[in-house]
Amino acid sequence: MWYPGHIKKAKGKIKTYLKTVQGILELVDARAPYASRAYEYDDLFKNKERIILFNKIDIADESKLKFWEKYYRDKGYKVLKTALKKVSVRSFLTKIVYKSFPKKFSELRVMVAGIPNVGKSTLINSIKGKKALRVGNTPGITRGLQWISVNNQFMLLDTPGILYSEIYNKKILYKLILIGSIKPEEDEKEFAIEYGFNFFKEKYPDIIKKALKSDSIPEDHIKFLELFAKRRNFIATGNTYDIERAMSTFLKELSDGKYGKVVYDYPEDYDILK
Ligand code: GDP
Repeated sequence: MWYPGHIKKAKGKIKTYLKTVQGILELVDARAPYASRAYEYDDLFKNKERIILFNKIDIADESKLKFWEKYYRDKGYKVLKTALKKVSVRSFLTKIVYKSFPKKFSELRVMVAGIPNVGKSTLINSIKGKKALRVGNTPGITRGLQWISVNNQFMLLDTPGILYSEIYNKKILYKLILIGSIKPEEDEKEFAIEYGFNFFKEKYPDIIKKALKSDSIPEDHIKFLELFAKRRNFIATGNTYDIERAMSTFLKELSDGKYGKVVYDYPEDYDILK
């Protein structure tokens, strides 16, 4: 879980460092391009050049992304799509990201932002190496954020991932659990899986079939979890199926994209978009 205190602190850091950057590279998980955006960033980031980077495109159902791409473009943001794990990050940054910001900056300084698990470390670590440097002490900040130089015209600022301070919609919570951004509380796990199961049954039955390595679709998530445990031989004491283990394994493999491509966000899920 996340803690409001941490979020406040992370936000404070972001605010302080915002003055030093001209642009924002905001990562979202392409499987949930709306839910995986901490919308609370919006007022922090206004007046900055902004790119929304749909990451993990390799495990997203690209055909469902048109709406979201337009949605962000209409807000005045640039939209890029990639799979940071699959591409050469350095060349993606220099050839695509750098060129997507306006030419007016001779030295471009960009803040990398996004909620947990969207790929920020994958991006930063792949270019970090020896070039990473820690910013000196800034008053009021206990730990300096990291500047990483991509080349002598382009610097990135690594920031802590921040989440919503309050999730106003259960669907968003479940989606964030299904993509692996939030570690669920015990009681949330099953609800998230139930939500996911019903969603897959309607929109992506192949995900269920792949998870179970079977051609039939169980009637509900409880039966699904039993079959999943049975298939994997997850047995608990007393010779019952280890449903707890089935839930954790399923969630882990699902968020890693092992069962195929998916997009969880649909405009009709959000009242404000109607
Ligand atoms: P952070 O919390 O935002 O720093 O996210 P990480 O960089 O730690 O990435 C979270 C997980 O997503 C890791 O397991 C990465 O390997 C994985 N990941 C990152 N980028 C991609 C991608 O393009 N495709 C896929 N399939 N996985 C990715």
